[in-house]
Amino acid sequence: MVAYGSPLYVYSRSDVERNWLEFDQAFGSHPHLVCYAVKANSNIAVLNTLAKIGAGFDIVSQGELERVLVAGGQGNRCVFSGVAKTAKEIKRALEVGVRCFNVESASELDRIESVAKSLNTQAPISIRVNPNVDAKTHPYISTGLKENKFGVDIDDAINLYQRAQNSEYLNIQGLDCHIGSQITEVSPFLDALDKVLELIDQLNKNGIKISQLDLGGGIGIVYDDEQTIDIQAYIDAIISKVGKIEIILEPGRSIVGNAGIFVTKVEFIKQNSEHSFAIIDGAMNDLLRPSFYNAYHQVLPVNENSNGIQASWDLVGPICETGDFLAKDRALSLSQGDYLAVMSAGAYGFTMSSNYNSRPRVAEVMVSGDQHYLVRERETIQDLFNKEHMIND
Ligand SMILES: *Cc1c(COP(=O)(O)O)cnc(C)c1O
Repeated sequence: MVAYGSPLYVYSRSDVERNWLEFDQAFGSHPHLVCYAVKANSNIAVLNTLAKIGAGFDIVSQGELERVLVAGGQGNRCVFSGVAKTAKEIKRALEVGVRCFNVESASELDRIESVAKSLNTQAPISIRVNPNVDAKTHPYISTGLKENKFGVDIDDAINLYQRAQNSEYLNIQGLDCHIGSQITEVSPFLDALDKVLELIDQLNKNGIKISQLDLGGGIGIVYDDEQTIDIQAYIDAIISKVGKIEIILEPGRSIVGNAGIFVTKVEFIKQNSEHSFAIIDGAMNDLLRPSFYNAYHQVLPVNENSNGIQASWDLVGPICETGDFLAKDRALSLSQGDYLAVMSAGAYGFTMSSNYNSRPRVAEVMVSGDQHYLVRERETIQDLFNKEHMIND
């Protein structure tokens, strides 16, 4: 902290590796590709760590694609998800030989076809179907219900596959679904799997061959005391149901979530008759999940402070919003100047950060063995308005 300043994200390289390898090895000899969902944490040191051990990547924008390429990842190990791919993004993805587009609507299929035609090539596609299952997670991160914007209604998918089958510019790879995030029970995944396997049967009967099945990400992690999914058991269950079909998974949170912490410093202590506030230097712009999803993160003192004030603290940031808190009601012994570790902050932490209140984005550090490396510099004040222009009149 002293070296890098505060607040700060810190990631463990070996945890990232171990988490990805757990998925990869659980498949044994069954054909598979574990595509890390870049949006969870897109730092190029994280991507490079994963590229080196053979990961694929799930991307949702050209920005993420370019990050993967810069970090040593390969286009042909990328699957391209997202509801609104632009023509420019599709063109670039085709040029770098992306492995598959996960198509989210009929109009998107048209757009991909026309870009492929303009390049006189074939676009590899899967259709993302919405299996209409309840992922039993926070409504903002539930994506597999009819009311969600994602994917193609499972009943409409056959028509779309037939359209793709008849196009000389589209090449059907498989089928895709992703039902949500931070899912802590295996049953919604297996319900979705049963539904898509039925669809694959119907497609086969219609002469449409599905050789790859992408089951998305969404495996929950332990933030507090949740019981979550046993990855080996989940993958065993998949393999027992799918026959020889190649499986793609797109885990994000479960690769990086518990591989990172957010470090913040107590600036001031403020107690009144009702509340004990520790005003910290980290805020909702740095780590949005508590404000946005009411998410829980464990908070630990970096050094035990036996001389601090023991109380049940609300940890609030400097931002001018009542919703600016990282944790509430935490029993801790605190003094001004203490450092705190906000745990399980490696996923959807830095990537969801912003410059709100004109706060420079924080630094990111990666620990590897007994070494530590600055993997993103703290933004400067100048960075905040570097690209802005006044009207000169
Ligand atoms: C967000 C997302 C993922 C990753 O979800 P996690 O919960 O982080 O594993 C995978 N696939 C798609 C299509 C996504 O939108």
